Amino acid sequence: MDGSATPSQPNNLEAFWMPFTMNRQFKKAPRMLVSAEGMYYTTQDGRQVLDAAAGLWCVNAGHRRPRIVEAVQRQIAELDYAPAFQMGHPAAFELASRLSTMLPGDLDHVFFTNSGSESVDTALKIALAYHRARGEGTRQRLIGRERGYHGVGFGGISVGGIVNNRKFFGSLLTGVDHMPHTHDKAHQAFSRGEPEWGGHLADELERIVTLHDASNIAAVIVEPVAGSTGVLIPPQGYLKRLREICDKHGILLIFDEVITGFGRLGASFATEYFGVMPDIICTAKGITNGTIPMGAVFVRKHIYDSFMDGPEGAIELFHGYTYSGHPVACAASLATLDTYQEEQLFQRAADLAPYWEDAVHSLKGARHVIDLRNLGLIAGIELEPLPGQPTKRAFDAFLKCYERGVMIRTTGDIIALSPPLIIEKAEIDRLFTTIREVLETID
Ligand code: PLP
Repeated sequence: MDGSATPSQPNNLEAFWMPFTMNRQFKKAPRMLVSAEGMYYTTQDGRQVLDAAAGLWCVNAGHRRPRIVEAVQRQIAELDYAPAFQMGHPAAFELASRLSTMLPGDLDHVFFTNSGSESVDTALKIALAYHRARGEGTRQRLIGRERGYHGVGFGGISVGGIVNNRKFFGSLLTGVDHMPHTHDKAHQAFSRGEPEWGGHLADELERIVTLHDASNIAAVIVEPVAGSTGVLIPPQGYLKRLREICDKHGILLIFDEVITGFGRLGASFATEYFGVMPDIICTAKGITNGTIPMGAVFVRKHIYDSFMDGPEGAIELFHGYTYSGHPVACAASLATLDTYQEEQLFQRAADLAPYWEDAVHSLKGARHVIDLRNLGLIAGIELEPLPGQPTKRAFDAFLKCYERGVMIRTTGDIIALSPPLIIEKAEIDRLFTTIREVLETID
């Protein structure tokens, strides 16, 4: 076989086992994207498709931004790779310093990974090793939440709470408990922003602490806004209360900000938006605007310092990835941060959020819609499932929107929207008009 050319039109779809995809259905009627710019993808058949999902919650500055493209090209031509262990290169240090200035308080040390899943596993491992380093090695239990999504590593699916992501994969990590999720339509349906009802659900953490004793619990991990499970907005006061309970019992609080990081809520991170500071933050996605795989875990100074008091000639943390702080990813991230900053995109998202909220809630009363949720530039549109056919209605909506030139994302029977932060008001109008019209046409 001649491997010299990359065919622009793949003629065999069989070999690629696609992730989180109905492979057989897709391969019968593929949806192929061949280029992208700004708010739009171009399909293989030459159509323009409005990207209402920022790819997969990652392309926060919009597609094919010249500054990022050039930075990646420059870097790969100069230093294509440098070993991550016992060696360094300047861009990784520059990026870590720069990122640490974006976070509040003393969340100022950064461990680089290559994805959200790796960030989560890294955070959980750091939490366990931290307690051990301080002589509290009995703190081994981890607490997640029902409906939580923390990627697909064994750590992430163990603390995560989405049944299909867990049930096929054996006994998972031991020593994990789950708090209840925070969504209850009876009390919260059609709330704008943070629901008034549900802050008390944080007290469930106290119940778990009483069951196991705090001396056995290492960390609690939550998404400040749960995305992949279908957009669950935290009730007012909930995150603050979690922080208080963790403080009371010496438990580390981990925020998984893989989707809320880098401007999605109209602030750099959810920690800033909610005014609640965790001990560890997991990020990925928007860190490079989706261009090059990268993740980062931020830890507070006292956590980092607790590893730094052994002999200087010893490795402090036996953890890391071949591509931690990859030079090309660092270059992409630095250029991404420049783009966010120059165009004030986080502020832009904040300014646009009220318009977005009105547009989301204009769907109240639309066919099949049983709930609407929003925060920052995120929306969840929950549809009444087709009797006996869960997920079908939302997936049909996805296919019809795509035919009409709009790419939405669905999970279960929920449409989850998270457009690039460069979206224009006219595009918001078009997005919600298309969804409303499509809902009229589907069963
Ligand atoms: N954590 C959260 C909150 C996410 O939303 C995701 C991905 O959507 C992940 C972790 C996993 O990220 P990745 O797919 O980069 O491993």
